[in-house]
Amino acid sequence: MTQTMVKTVKNYINGEWVEASTNETKEVFNPATGEVIAHVPISTKEDVDRAVQAAKEAFAEWKEVAVPKRARLLFKFHQLLVDNWEELAKLITTENGKNYTEAYGEVQRGIECVEFAAGAPTLMMGSQLPSIATDLESGVYRYPIGVIGGITPFNFPAMVPMWMFPMAIATGNTFVLKPSERTPLLAVRLAELLEEAGLPKGVFNIVHGAHDVVNGLLDHQDVAAISFVGSQPVAEYVYKRGTANLKRVQALSGAKNHSIVLADANLENAATQIINAAFGSAGERCMACSVVAVEESIADELIEKLVQKANEIKIGNGLDDDVFLGPVIREEHKQRTLQYIETGEKEGAKLIRDGRKDEAAKSKGYFVGPTIFDHVTSEMKIWQDEIFAPVLSIARVKDLTEAVELANKSRFANGACIFTRSGGAVRQFRETIDAGMLGVNIGVPAPMAFFPFSGWKDSFYGDLHANGKDSIEFYTRKKVVTQRWV
Ligand code: NAD
Repeated sequence: MTQTMVKTVKNYINGEWVEASTNETKEVFNPATGEVIAHVPISTKEDVDRAVQAAKEAFAEWKEVAVPKRARLLFKFHQLLVDNWEELAKLITTENGKNYTEAYGEVQRGIECVEFAAGAPTLMMGSQLPSIATDLESGVYRYPIGVIGGITPFNFPAMVPMWMFPMAIATGNTFVLKPSERTPLLAVRLAELLEEAGLPKGVFNIVHGAHDVVNGLLDHQDVAAISFVGSQPVAEYVYKRGTANLKRVQALSGAKNHSIVLADANLENAATQIINAAFGSAGERCMACSVVAVEESIADELIEKLVQKANEIKIGNGLDDDVFLGPVIREEHKQRTLQYIETGEKEGAKLIRDGRKDEAAKSKGYFVGPTIFDHVTSEMKIWQDEIFAPVLSIARVKDLTEAVELANKSRFANGACIFTRSGGAVRQFRETIDAGMLGVNIGVPAPMAFFPFSGWKDSFYGDLHANGKDSIEFYTRKKVVTQRWV
Protein backbone atom coordinates (compact mmCIF):
# COMPACT_ATOMS: atom_id res chain seq x y z
CA MET A 1 0.00 0.00 0.00
CA THR A 2 1.39 3.40 -0.90
CA GLN A 3 1.34 6.22 1.62
CA THR A 4 -1.20 8.09 -0.47
CA MET A 5 -3.77 5.39 0.26
CA VAL A 6 -3.58 5.72 4.02
CA LYS A 7 -6.06 7.87 5.86
CA THR A 8 -3.66 10.10 7.76
CA VAL A 9 -0.50 10.83 5.84
CA LYS A 10 2.76 10.53 7.72
CA ASN A 11 5.90 12.58 7.82
CA TYR A 12 8.89 11.24 5.93
CA ILE A 13 12.02 11.53 8.02
CA ASN A 14 15.33 9.78 7.45
CA GLY A 15 13.78 7.44 4.91
CA GLU A 16 10.98 6.31 7.25
CA TRP A 17 7.27 7.11 7.32
CA VAL A 18 6.71 8.36 10.85
CA GLU A 19 3.80 9.67 12.88
CA ALA A 20 3.86 13.36 13.75
CA SER A 21 4.20 14.20 17.44
CA THR A 22 0.64 15.53 17.55
CA ASN A 23 -2.90 14.30 17.21
CA GLU A 24 -3.96 17.46 15.48
CA THR A 25 -4.89 16.85 11.86
CA LYS A 26 -6.65 18.68 9.03
CA GLU A 27 -8.94 17.23 6.42
CA VAL A 28 -7.77 17.03 2.81
CA PHE A 29 -10.68 17.41 0.41
CA ASN A 30 -11.30 16.54 -3.19
CA PRO A 31 -12.46 20.03 -4.22
CA ALA A 32 -14.57 18.67 -7.06
CA THR A 33 -16.74 16.58 -4.73
CA GLY A 34 -16.19 17.99 -1.26
CA GLU A 35 -15.21 14.48 -0.07
CA VAL A 36 -12.48 13.98 2.50
CA ILE A 37 -9.70 11.99 0.84
CA ALA A 38 -7.09 12.03 3.61
CA HIS A 39 -6.02 13.71 6.81
CA VAL A 40 -2.80 15.62 7.21
CA PRO A 41 -0.96 16.02 10.52
CA ILE A 42 -0.33 19.53 11.77
CA SER A 43 3.18 18.75 12.89
CA THR A 44 5.13 20.56 15.59
CA LYS A 45 8.56 22.12 15.96
CA GLU A 46 9.75 18.81 17.44
CA ASP A 47 8.92 17.12 14.15
CA VAL A 48 10.89 19.83 12.31
CA ASP A 49 13.83 19.24 14.66
CA ARG A 50 13.83 15.53 13.88
CA ALA A 51 13.71 16.13 10.14
CA VAL A 52 16.41 18.81 10.19
CA GLN A 53 18.63 16.60 12.34
CA ALA A 54 18.23 13.75 9.84
CA ALA A 55 18.92 16.09 6.92
CA LYS A 56 21.96 17.52 8.68
CA GLU A 57 23.42 14.07 9.28
CA ALA A 58 22.68 13.01 5.70
CA PHE A 59 24.36 16.17 4.39
CA ALA A 60 27.73 15.06 5.75
CA GLU A 61 27.75 12.12 3.33
CA TRP A 62 25.59 13.40 0.48
CA LYS A 63 27.82 16.41 -0.18
CA GLU A 64 30.72 14.00 -0.71
CA VAL A 65 28.89 11.95 -3.36
CA ALA A 66 30.36 12.75 -6.76
CA VAL A 67 28.20 15.19 -8.71
CA PRO A 68 27.71 12.86 -11.74
CA LYS A 69 26.55 10.16 -9.33
CA ARG A 70 23.98 12.50 -7.81
CA ALA A 71 22.87 13.42 -11.31
CA ARG A 72 22.53 9.75 -12.26
CA LEU A 73 20.09 9.29 -9.39
CA LEU A 74 18.01 12.09 -10.84
CA PHE A 75 17.93 10.26 -14.18
CA LYS A 76 16.34 7.31 -12.35
CA PHE A 77 13.88 9.60 -10.63
CA HIS A 78 13.09 11.17 -14.00
CA GLN A 79 12.28 7.74 -15.46
CA LEU A 80 10.00 6.98 -12.52
CA LEU A 81 8.14 10.26 -13.04
CA VAL A 82 7.65 9.32 -16.69
CA ASP A 83 6.51 5.79 -15.77
CA ASN A 84 4.00 7.14 -13.23
CA TRP A 85 2.98 10.26 -15.15
CA GLU A 86 -0.73 9.44 -15.49
CA GLU A 87 -1.13 8.36 -11.89
CA LEU A 88 0.60 11.53 -10.70
CA ALA A 89 -1.62 13.68 -12.92
CA LYS A 90 -4.76 12.00 -11.59
CA LEU A 91 -3.60 12.59 -8.05
CA ILE A 92 -3.02 16.28 -8.80
CA THR A 93 -6.54 16.60 -10.20
CA THR A 94 -7.97 14.76 -7.21
CA GLU A 95 -6.37 16.91 -4.53
CA ASN A 96 -6.12 20.22 -6.39
CA GLY A 97 -9.06 20.24 -8.81
CA LYS A 98 -7.34 21.40 -12.03
CA ASN A 99 -8.31 19.41 -15.11
CA TYR A 100 -6.41 16.28 -16.07
CA THR A 101 -4.71 17.85 -19.10
CA GLU A 102 -3.41 20.70 -16.97
CA ALA A 103 -2.33 18.24 -14.29
CA TYR A 104 -0.51 16.20 -16.92
CA GLY A 105 1.19 19.39 -18.08
CA GLU A 106 2.15 20.20 -14.51
CA VAL A 107 3.97 16.86 -14.21
CA GLN A 108 5.76 17.74 -17.43
CA ARG A 109 6.93 21.06 -16.00
CA GLY A 110 8.23 19.16 -12.96
CA ILE A 111 10.01 16.65 -15.18
CA GLU A 112 11.68 19.54 -17.00
CA CYS A 113 13.10 20.75 -13.67
CA VAL A 114 14.57 17.31 -13.04
CA GLU A 115 16.10 17.33 -16.54
CA PHE A 116 17.67 20.70 -15.85
CA ALA A 117 18.96 19.63 -12.43
CA ALA A 118 20.49 16.47 -13.94
CA GLY A 119 22.88 18.84 -15.72
CA ALA A 120 24.47 19.62 -12.33
CA PRO A 121 27.94 18.37 -13.36
CA THR A 122 28.09 21.12 -15.97
CA LEU A 123 26.06 23.67 -14.05
CA MET A 124 28.16 23.37 -10.89
CA MET A 125 31.45 23.94 -12.68
CA GLY A 126 33.58 26.75 -11.39
CA SER A 127 35.94 28.90 -13.42
CA GLN A 128 39.63 29.61 -13.48
CA LEU A 129 42.05 32.27 -14.57
CA PRO A 130 45.51 30.70 -14.92
CA SER A 131 47.46 33.95 -14.63
CA ILE A 132 46.12 36.67 -12.40
CA ALA A 133 49.77 37.76 -11.94
CA THR A 134 53.14 36.18 -12.64
CA ASP A 135 52.97 32.54 -11.48
CA LEU A 136 49.69 33.21 -9.71
CA GLU A 137 46.32 31.65 -10.52
CA SER A 138 42.78 31.87 -9.20
CA GLY A 139 39.73 29.67 -9.51
CA VAL A 140 36.17 29.43 -8.23
CA TYR A 141 34.82 26.16 -6.81
CA ARG A 142 31.18 25.54 -5.94
CA TYR A 143 29.85 23.72 -2.89
CA PRO A 144 26.40 22.95 -1.46
CA ILE A 145 25.20 25.02 1.49
CA GLY A 146 23.54 22.47 3.78
CA VAL A 147 19.96 21.78 4.82
CA ILE A 148 17.33 23.56 2.70
CA GLY A 149 13.77 24.16 3.88
CA GLY A 150 11.15 24.19 1.13
CA ILE A 151 7.65 25.61 1.75
CA THR A 152 5.15 25.20 -1.07
CA PRO A 153 1.60 26.30 -2.07
CA PHE A 154 -1.46 24.29 -3.01
CA ASN A 155 -1.73 25.29 -6.64
CA PHE A 156 1.17 23.30 -8.11
CA PRO A 157 1.66 20.39 -5.70
CA ALA A 158 4.09 18.61 -8.05
CA MET A 159 5.79 21.35 -10.03
CA VAL A 160 6.62 23.83 -7.28
CA PRO A 161 8.36 21.28 -5.01
CA MET A 162 10.25 20.25 -8.16
CA TRP A 163 11.36 23.84 -8.70
CA MET A 164 13.27 23.24 -5.48
CA PHE A 165 14.43 19.82 -4.42
CA PRO A 166 15.89 18.37 -7.67
CA MET A 167 18.35 21.23 -7.98
CA ALA A 168 18.93 21.42 -4.23
CA ILE A 169 19.88 17.76 -3.97
CA ALA A 170 21.73 17.64 -7.31
CA THR A 171 24.03 20.35 -5.99
CA GLY A 172 24.66 18.30 -2.83
CA ASN A 173 22.25 19.79 -0.31
CA THR A 174 19.67 17.93 1.74
CA PHE A 175 16.05 18.97 1.91
CA VAL A 176 13.07 19.28 4.27
CA LEU A 177 9.81 19.94 2.45
CA LYS A 178 6.68 21.40 4.04
CA PRO A 179 4.01 20.92 1.39
CA SER A 180 0.73 22.79 1.43
CA GLU A 181 -1.56 21.21 3.99
CA ARG A 182 -4.32 21.53 1.39
CA THR A 183 -2.51 19.37 -1.19
CA PRO A 184 -0.08 17.14 0.71
CA LEU A 185 -0.47 13.90 -1.26
CA LEU A 186 1.68 14.67 -4.28
CA ALA A 187 4.73 15.31 -2.11
CA VAL A 188 4.20 11.95 -0.47
CA ARG A 189 4.20 10.24 -3.83
CA LEU A 190 7.33 12.13 -4.91
CA ALA A 191 9.13 10.92 -1.77
CA GLU A 192 8.16 7.34 -2.61
CA LEU A 193 9.58 7.73 -6.10
CA LEU A 194 12.80 9.31 -4.79
CA GLU A 195 13.19 6.34 -2.47
CA GLU A 196 12.59 3.95 -5.37
CA ALA A 197 15.26 5.81 -7.33
CA GLY A 198 17.70 4.99 -4.51
CA LEU A 199 18.05 8.35 -2.76
CA PRO A 200 19.93 7.79 0.51
CA LYS A 201 17.99 8.19 3.75
CA GLY A 202 17.69 11.70 5.12
CA VAL A 203 18.50 13.54 1.87
CA PHE A 204 14.82 14.33 1.28
CA ASN A 205 12.35 14.67 4.14
CA ILE A 206 8.75 15.83 4.52
CA VAL A 207 7.15 17.48 7.53
CA HIS A 208 3.46 18.12 6.99
CA GLY A 209 1.66 20.94 8.71
CA ALA A 210 1.14 24.67 8.80
CA HIS A 211 2.58 27.72 10.61
CA ASP A 212 4.49 25.85 13.32
CA VAL A 213 6.42 23.85 10.76
CA VAL A 214 7.17 26.98 8.74
CA ASN A 215 8.35 28.83 11.85
CA GLY A 216 10.32 25.78 12.92
CA LEU A 217 12.23 25.86 9.64
CA LEU A 218 12.65 29.64 9.65
CA ASP A 219 14.11 29.64 13.17
CA HIS A 220 16.21 26.49 12.99
CA GLN A 221 19.92 27.20 13.26
CA ASP A 222 20.76 24.16 11.13
CA VAL A 223 18.66 25.28 8.15
CA ALA A 224 20.89 27.17 5.74
CA ALA A 225 18.31 28.42 3.25
CA ILE A 226 14.58 28.69 2.68
CA SER A 227 12.85 28.41 -0.64
CA PHE A 228 9.24 29.61 -0.37
CA VAL A 229 6.39 29.91 -2.84
CA GLY A 230 2.99 31.18 -1.75
CA SER A 231 0.83 34.23 -1.15
CA GLN A 232 2.20 37.76 -0.69
CA PRO A 233 1.68 38.29 3.05
CA VAL A 234 3.27 34.93 3.87
CA ALA A 235 6.12 35.45 1.39
CA GLU A 236 6.97 38.79 3.01
CA TYR A 237 6.77 37.26 6.47
CA VAL A 238 8.94 34.29 5.50
CA TYR A 239 11.52 36.54 3.85
CA LYS A 240 11.74 38.88 6.86
CA ARG A 241 11.88 36.16 9.51
CA GLY A 242 14.22 33.93 7.52
CA THR A 243 16.70 36.68 6.71
CA ALA A 244 16.49 38.03 10.30
CA ASN A 245 17.74 34.56 11.23
CA LEU A 246 20.58 35.08 8.74
CA LYS A 247 19.34 32.53 6.22
CA ARG A 248 19.46 32.76 2.48
CA VAL A 249 15.81 33.17 1.41
CA GLN A 250 13.97 33.25 -1.89
CA ALA A 251 10.24 33.93 -1.50
CA LEU A 252 8.06 33.82 -4.60
CA SER A 253 4.81 35.61 -3.98
CA GLY A 254 1.41 36.64 -5.35
CA ALA A 255 0.51 38.26 -8.65
CA LYS A 256 -1.96 40.35 -10.62
CA ASN A 257 -0.93 39.85 -14.23
CA HIS A 258 -2.06 42.17 -17.00
CA SER A 259 -2.60 41.30 -20.66
CA ILE A 260 -2.54 44.25 -23.03
CA VAL A 261 -4.51 43.93 -26.27
CA LEU A 262 -3.81 46.47 -29.00
CA ALA A 263 -6.07 47.27 -31.92
CA ASP A 264 -3.80 45.53 -34.46
CA ALA A 265 -3.77 42.20 -32.60
CA ASN A 266 -5.09 38.92 -33.94
CA LEU A 267 -8.17 39.09 -31.74
CA GLU A 268 -9.13 35.46 -32.15
CA ASN A 269 -5.72 34.36 -30.85
CA ALA A 270 -5.79 36.99 -28.08
CA ALA A 271 -9.23 35.86 -26.88
CA THR A 272 -8.27 32.16 -26.89
CA GLN A 273 -5.04 32.83 -25.00
CA ILE A 274 -6.70 35.12 -22.47
CA ILE A 275 -9.49 32.64 -21.75
CA ASN A 276 -6.91 29.91 -21.10
CA ALA A 277 -4.80 32.21 -18.97
CA ALA A 278 -7.71 33.63 -16.94
CA PHE A 279 -9.75 30.48 -16.37
CA GLY A 280 -7.19 27.67 -16.71
CA SER A 281 -6.52 25.99 -13.35
CA ALA A 282 -9.57 27.95 -12.14
CA GLY A 283 -7.47 31.13 -12.12
CA GLU A 284 -5.30 29.60 -9.39
CA ARG A 285 -2.00 30.31 -11.09
CA CYS A 286 0.59 32.93 -10.20
CA MET A 287 0.84 33.50 -13.96
CA ALA A 288 -2.94 33.73 -14.49
CA CYS A 289 -4.24 36.65 -16.51
CA SER A 290 -6.27 38.75 -14.06
CA VAL A 291 -6.65 42.01 -15.98
CA VAL A 292 -7.05 42.75 -19.67
CA ALA A 293 -6.12 46.29 -20.68
CA VAL A 294 -7.68 46.66 -24.10
CA GLU A 295 -7.59 49.56 -26.54
CA GLU A 296 -11.02 51.18 -26.55
CA SER A 297 -11.48 50.89 -30.33
CA ILE A 298 -11.58 47.06 -30.26
CA ALA A 299 -12.83 46.52 -26.70
CA ASP A 300 -16.40 45.52 -27.67
CA GLU A 301 -15.20 43.08 -30.30
CA LEU A 302 -12.72 41.42 -27.93
CA ILE A 303 -15.24 41.24 -25.11
CA GLU A 304 -17.80 39.58 -27.35
CA LYS A 305 -15.26 36.89 -28.22
CA LEU A 306 -14.26 36.44 -24.57
CA VAL A 307 -17.84 36.03 -23.40
CA GLN A 308 -18.64 33.64 -26.21
CA LYS A 309 -15.59 31.48 -25.41
CA ALA A 310 -16.32 31.63 -21.67
CA ASN A 311 -19.85 30.39 -22.36
CA GLU A 312 -18.41 27.36 -24.15
CA ILE A 313 -16.30 26.29 -21.18
CA LYS A 314 -17.27 22.97 -19.65
CA ILE A 315 -17.20 23.13 -15.85
CA GLY A 316 -16.90 20.08 -13.61
CA ASN A 317 -14.68 17.38 -12.16
CA GLY A 318 -11.31 17.67 -13.87
CA LEU A 319 -11.15 13.91 -14.33
CA ASP A 320 -14.21 13.97 -16.60
CA ASP A 321 -13.75 14.26 -20.36
CA ASP A 322 -13.58 17.73 -21.90
CA VAL A 323 -13.86 19.53 -18.56
CA PHE A 324 -11.85 22.73 -18.74
CA LEU A 325 -12.77 24.54 -15.53
CA GLY A 326 -12.47 22.62 -12.28
CA PRO A 327 -13.28 23.82 -8.77
CA VAL A 328 -11.36 26.29 -6.62
CA ILE A 329 -9.46 24.74 -3.77
CA ARG A 330 -11.84 25.09 -0.79
CA GLU A 331 -15.33 26.20 0.16
CA GLU A 332 -13.84 29.24 2.00
CA HIS A 333 -11.98 30.22 -1.14
CA LYS A 334 -15.21 29.94 -3.12
CA GLN A 335 -16.97 32.17 -0.59
CA ARG A 336 -14.11 34.69 -0.72
CA THR A 337 -14.39 34.73 -4.51
CA LEU A 338 -18.15 35.31 -4.36
CA GLN A 339 -17.47 38.21 -1.99
CA TYR A 340 -15.10 39.72 -4.54
CA ILE A 341 -17.77 39.43 -7.22
CA GLU A 342 -20.18 41.34 -4.96
CA THR A 343 -17.47 43.90 -4.21
CA GLY A 344 -16.83 44.41 -7.93
CA GLU A 345 -20.51 45.11 -8.52
CA LYS A 346 -20.63 47.56 -5.59
CA GLU A 347 -17.50 49.31 -6.84
CA GLY A 348 -19.27 50.02 -10.12
CA ALA A 349 -17.59 47.55 -12.48
CA LYS A 350 -19.96 46.08 -15.05
CA LEU A 351 -20.51 42.35 -14.54
CA ILE A 352 -20.80 40.96 -18.05
CA ARG A 353 -20.50 37.27 -17.23
CA ASP A 354 -21.61 36.03 -13.83
CA GLY A 355 -20.01 32.73 -12.83
CA ARG A 356 -22.37 32.44 -9.86
CA LYS A 357 -25.17 31.62 -12.26
CA ASP A 358 -23.51 28.57 -13.86
CA GLU A 359 -25.23 25.31 -12.93
CA ALA A 360 -21.96 23.87 -11.57
CA ALA A 361 -21.68 26.76 -9.09
CA LYS A 362 -24.70 25.30 -7.30
CA SER A 363 -23.29 21.76 -7.10
CA LYS A 364 -21.41 20.09 -4.27
CA GLY A 365 -17.83 20.89 -5.22
CA TYR A 366 -16.25 24.33 -4.90
CA PHE A 367 -17.15 25.64 -8.33
CA VAL A 368 -17.29 29.21 -9.58
CA GLY A 369 -18.04 29.75 -13.27
CA PRO A 370 -16.00 32.07 -15.48
CA THR A 371 -16.68 35.63 -14.35
CA ILE A 372 -15.88 38.76 -16.35
CA PHE A 373 -16.07 42.40 -15.30
CA ASP A 374 -15.85 45.31 -17.75
CA HIS A 375 -14.97 48.96 -16.97
CA VAL A 376 -12.62 48.05 -14.13
CA THR A 377 -10.34 50.80 -12.78
CA SER A 378 -7.27 50.84 -10.56
CA GLU A 379 -9.31 52.32 -7.68
CA MET A 380 -11.26 49.06 -7.35
CA LYS A 381 -10.33 46.22 -5.00
CA ILE A 382 -11.04 43.70 -7.74
CA TRP A 383 -8.20 45.34 -9.70
CA GLN A 384 -5.85 45.66 -6.73
CA ASP A 385 -6.12 42.28 -4.99
CA GLU A 386 -5.04 38.87 -6.16
CA ILE A 387 -8.39 37.04 -6.26
CA PHE A 388 -6.84 33.73 -7.39
CA ALA A 389 -10.05 32.43 -8.93
CA PRO A 390 -11.81 32.48 -12.33
CA VAL A 391 -12.54 36.21 -12.23
CA LEU A 392 -11.26 38.41 -15.08
CA SER A 393 -11.25 42.21 -15.07
CA ILE A 394 -11.28 44.29 -18.23
CA ALA A 395 -10.01 47.87 -18.28
CA ARG A 396 -10.45 50.01 -21.35
CA VAL A 397 -7.44 52.15 -22.25
CA LYS A 398 -6.65 54.79 -24.84
CA ASP A 399 -3.33 53.30 -25.98
CA LEU A 400 -0.31 51.20 -25.07
CA THR A 401 1.22 53.93 -22.90
CA GLU A 402 -1.92 54.10 -20.76
CA ALA A 403 -2.10 50.29 -20.60
CA VAL A 404 1.48 50.04 -19.31
CA GLU A 405 0.86 52.86 -16.82
CA LEU A 406 -2.12 50.94 -15.48
CA ALA A 407 -0.22 47.64 -15.16
CA ASN A 408 2.71 49.41 -13.50
CA LYS A 409 0.44 50.81 -10.76
CA SER A 410 0.04 47.28 -9.37
CA ARG A 411 2.16 46.31 -6.37
CA PHE A 412 2.58 42.94 -8.07
CA ALA A 413 4.80 42.35 -11.09
CA ASN A 414 5.07 38.67 -11.87
CA GLY A 415 4.06 38.51 -15.53
CA ALA A 416 2.54 40.62 -18.30
CA CYS A 417 1.53 39.92 -21.88
CA ILE A 418 0.96 41.94 -25.01
CA PHE A 419 -1.12 41.03 -28.06
CA THR A 420 -0.12 42.98 -31.14
CA ARG A 421 1.45 42.63 -34.59
CA SER A 422 3.70 45.66 -34.11
CA GLY A 423 7.39 45.14 -33.34
CA GLY A 424 7.64 48.73 -32.14
CA ALA A 425 4.82 48.23 -29.68
CA VAL A 426 6.46 45.06 -28.38
CA ARG A 427 9.68 46.97 -27.85
CA GLN A 428 7.91 49.78 -26.00
CA PHE A 429 6.09 47.20 -23.87
CA ARG A 430 9.28 45.30 -23.08
CA GLU A 431 11.19 48.44 -22.14
CA THR A 432 8.51 50.14 -20.04
CA ILE A 433 6.56 47.39 -18.28
CA ASP A 434 7.54 46.60 -14.67
CA ALA A 435 7.21 42.84 -14.68
CA GLY A 436 9.64 39.97 -14.69
CA MET A 437 8.08 37.46 -17.12
CA LEU A 438 6.69 38.76 -20.38
CA GLY A 439 4.64 37.19 -23.15
CA VAL A 440 4.14 38.35 -26.72
CA ASN A 441 0.99 36.93 -28.31
CA ILE A 442 0.90 34.14 -25.73
CA GLY A 443 -1.13 33.99 -22.53
CA VAL A 444 0.90 32.29 -19.80
CA PRO A 445 4.58 33.15 -20.27
CA ALA A 446 5.83 30.83 -17.51
CA PRO A 447 9.53 30.28 -18.23
CA MET A 448 10.92 26.78 -18.67
CA ALA A 449 13.19 25.32 -16.00
CA PHE A 450 16.45 26.60 -17.54
CA PHE A 451 15.27 30.23 -17.25
CA PRO A 452 14.64 31.99 -13.93
CA PHE A 453 11.10 32.44 -12.63
CA SER A 454 11.72 36.11 -12.26
CA GLY A 455 8.90 38.04 -10.58
CA TRP A 456 9.47 41.68 -9.61
CA LYS A 457 8.17 44.06 -6.91
CA ASP A 458 5.86 42.40 -4.36
CA SER A 459 5.74 39.24 -6.47
CA PHE A 460 9.18 38.26 -5.22
CA TYR A 461 11.38 38.76 -2.16
CA GLY A 462 15.05 37.92 -2.44
CA ASP A 463 17.85 38.15 -4.96
CA LEU A 464 18.11 34.78 -6.65
CA HIS A 465 14.97 33.44 -8.29
CA ALA A 466 13.84 29.84 -8.64
CA ASN A 467 15.13 27.82 -11.62
CA GLY A 468 17.69 28.73 -14.27
CA LYS A 469 21.22 29.75 -13.35
CA ASP A 470 19.82 31.61 -10.35
CA SER A 471 18.99 28.26 -8.78
CA ILE A 472 22.61 27.11 -9.01
CA GLU A 473 23.69 30.30 -7.30
CA PHE A 474 20.98 29.94 -4.66
CA TYR A 475 21.83 26.37 -3.71
CA THR A 476 25.64 26.72 -3.76
CA ARG A 477 28.39 28.78 -2.18
CA LYS A 478 31.79 29.44 -3.63
CA LYS A 479 35.43 29.18 -2.68
CA VAL A 480 37.86 31.34 -4.59
CA VAL A 481 41.30 29.76 -4.46
CA THR A 482 44.38 31.81 -5.29
CA GLN A 483 47.51 29.70 -5.74
CA ARG A 484 51.19 30.03 -6.47
CA TRP A 485 53.22 26.95 -7.33
CA VAL A 486 56.92 27.67 -7.13
P1 NAD B 1 -0.25 30.38 1.11
O1 NAD B 1 0.60 31.57 1.31
O2 NAD B 1 -1.54 30.31 1.82
O3 NAD B 1 0.56 29.06 1.55
C1 NAD B 1 1.87 28.81 1.09
C2 NAD B 1 2.60 28.02 2.16
O4 NAD B 1 2.77 28.85 3.31
C3 NAD B 1 1.84 26.78 2.60
O5 NAD B 1 2.77 25.73 2.76
C4 NAD B 1 1.21 27.21 3.91
O6 NAD B 1 1.06 26.14 4.83
C5 NAD B 1 2.18 28.23 4.45
N1 NAD B 1 1.49 29.28 5.24
C6 NAD B 1 0.27 29.82 4.99
N2 NAD B 1 -0.01 30.78 5.89
C7 NAD B 1 1.05 30.86 6.72
C8 NAD B 1 1.37 31.66 7.85
N3 NAD B 1 0.53 32.59 8.29
N4 NAD B 1 2.55 31.48 8.46
C9 NAD B 1 3.43 30.55 8.01
N5 NAD B 1 3.18 29.75 6.94
C10 NAD B 1 2.02 29.90 6.31
O7 NAD B 1 -0.42 30.21 -0.46
P2 NAD B 1 -1.41 29.23 -1.22
O8 NAD B 1 -2.81 29.74 -1.07
O9 NAD B 1 -1.12 27.81 -0.85
O10 NAD B 1 -0.91 29.43 -2.72
C11 NAD B 1 -1.38 30.42 -3.57
C12 NAD B 1 -0.47 31.62 -3.59
O11 NAD B 1 0.82 31.25 -4.03
C13 NAD B 1 -0.94 32.69 -4.56
O12 NAD B 1 -0.76 33.94 -3.96
C14 NAD B 1 -0.01 32.54 -5.75
O13 NAD B 1 0.18 33.70 -6.53
C15 NAD B 1 1.25 32.13 -5.06
N6 NAD B 1 2.15 31.46 -5.98
C16 NAD B 1 3.20 32.17 -6.45
C17 NAD B 1 4.06 31.60 -7.36
C18 NAD B 1 5.20 32.38 -7.91
O14 NAD B 1 6.02 31.80 -8.60
N7 NAD B 1 5.32 33.66 -7.65
C19 NAD B 1 3.84 30.28 -7.80
C20 NAD B 1 2.75 29.58 -7.28
C21 NAD B 1 1.91 30.19 -6.36
